[in-house]
Amino acid sequence: MSEREASHWGWGHADQFPKREARKALGDQVGNLLGLPVSGPHDPVPLAEVRVGEPRVDAPAALPFVNAEREDRVRHTYGRAYPDVVRGFGGDFTAAPDLVAHPSTETEVDQVLDWAQGAQVAVVPYGGGTSVVRGVECPLPDGFRGTLSLDLRGLDRVLEVEPSSLTARIQAGATGPRLEAQLAEHGLTLRCFPQSFEFSTLGGWLATRAGGHFATGYTHVDDLTASIRALTPRGPWESRRLPGSGAGPSPDRLMLGSEGALGVITEAWMRVRPRPRYRASASLRFAEFRDAVAACRALAQSGLFPSNCRVLDPREAKLNMVAVDGSSVLLLGFESADHPLHAWMDRALELARDHGGTVAGAVKHAEAGEKTGESGQAGTWKNAFVQMPYLLNVLVSLGVIADTFETACPWDRFDDLHAALVKNVRGAMKAVAGSPCHLSCRFTHVYPDGPAPYYTFIAKARPGAEVEQWAAIKQAASETLMAHGATITHHHAVGRTHRPWYREQRPAPMGDALRALKGALDPAGILNPGVLL
Ligand SMILES: Cc1cc2nc3c(=O)[nH]c(=O)nc-3n(C[C@H](O)[C@H](O)[C@H](O)COP(=O)(O)OP(=O)(O)OC[C@H]3O[C@@H](n4cnc5c(N)ncnc54)[C@H](O)[C@@H]3O)c2cc1C
Repeated sequence: MSEREASHWGWGHADQFPKREARKALGDQVGNLLGLPVSGPHDPVPLAEVRVGEPRVDAPAALPFVNAEREDRVRHTYGRAYPDVVRGFGGDFTAAPDLVAHPSTETEVDQVLDWAQGAQVAVVPYGGGTSVVRGVECPLPDGFRGTLSLDLRGLDRVLEVEPSSLTARIQAGATGPRLEAQLAEHGLTLRCFPQSFEFSTLGGWLATRAGGHFATGYTHVDDLTASIRALTPRGPWESRRLPGSGAGPSPDRLMLGSEGALGVITEAWMRVRPRPRYRASASLRFAEFRDAVAACRALAQSGLFPSNCRVLDPREAKLNMVAVDGSSVLLLGFESADHPLHAWMDRALELARDHGGTVAGAVKHAEAGEKTGESGQAGTWKNAFVQMPYLLNVLVSLGVIADTFETACPWDRFDDLHAALVKNVRGAMKAVAGSPCHLSCRFTHVYPDGPAPYYTFIAKARPGAEVEQWAAIKQAASETLMAHGATITHHHAVGRTHRPWYREQRPAPMGDALRALKGALDPAGILNPGVLL
């Protein structure tokens, strides 16, 4: 079977970028829905015509899995945030790495690290390249001769399953579908579903502390990690597979979120679970956003741990065509491998109704083999969720800025934070892009002590100034997050984009501690210089 070609500039498969006519029609729809003037549709610069410099170093002859080929370098240049997509669309790949390595064994990863130290070449671990924080784009650091993108997707197997502890040893380069297909042979699942699931990898999830789309309970990949094995320039870093340990600072916690700066994660023992047999879903509408928020808090604190507990504000509901009447929506879901879910769902609905929610459509219960319960608004939402990154590609071609930012904060700070974000981010959009513009909010994850709100912003781009406009909006959002005691990121990582605000957020001595740790593990500083520190 031939593999589908990936887009060289945007999200996903190249063949899913619509033809001009379809894009024009979509532009009209978006224009009507958001009242936003669009231009174009414009076309991306074809791969053969993009701008990319000559490699500054030669591929080492002794490592035949390393190359300096133009197309491979182009395809490893950027992640998939708005500024990446807009630069790729315009054919600017001058930031390309000099070399790309495709190891298929740990020994080959080790050989790359050895060679790079001697050759003064920076090594950027690369999973699926879906970073939205410039995590895989490495400008040439001072004192280095070149950069190498270390693509780990050749290490993509589930190596071992331990059924009594429900754990599996999985190689870091496995993408979501690759690892789920192999676990399914054992009737198991990791159930870590970031929106980028189709293309991102286990190693990327661990290195960025990804958030899957379980809305409560096990949300971050951290919760699913039993032990990690990484290669550092100073040798292997491997923790014991344990259900829990109080032995000092956790070695896994030091690797989780290390963003390729401390070691190359090659495999991990992950906590897996039987595939769910029972599913239930429902959606509720609220006349007021604050009531939907209050219902969501009650659910998060109820101990019911719904697998889906997602609030959409009226604009977000409209953008995703889930509700167009100005109401806020609460999408609810439960799943279990063990028991039917009527009692859980009934109690959750009771809590939501206490806060003014009304059930829209039917409450669905399904058992494995039956059609999933996710029809109606939940189904519409899921579809929109999967398609949204492709829509962002189209918006770029229509001269529109479209991106997201996310955070988490305690419940007692949410109202003020939300009001300030709406004021400041809308203000920044108006200043750089004029009116009208769009800002909407949903909760991606909720905890007993607070929500993780996620914002989508859309504004008119000025040709040639897109990245500057985006940066001004992003700055307004980030400064507001810091001023209100929220986190600069709940699950999008730090990378290079969030670094100034991460510095502000972390305890002051932690920067020195991180630098010392990096110095101990990576004395020549070859690993992804510029992320985190
Ligand atoms: C459309 C879209 C939707 C997204 N949705 C979500 C979401 O729902 N939840 C979420 O958490 N994130 C989301 N993201 C962000 C991104 O998918 C995550 O950060 C993801 O974990 C990155 O995985 P990756 O394999 O693509 O890593 P890459 O993008 O290749 O790398 C990310 C970082 O991890 C490092 N890295 C990668 N592999 C390794 C390794 N084996 N060892 C050491 N370091 C490594 C890289 O050097 C880099 O710093 C989304 C991104 C996009 C574009």
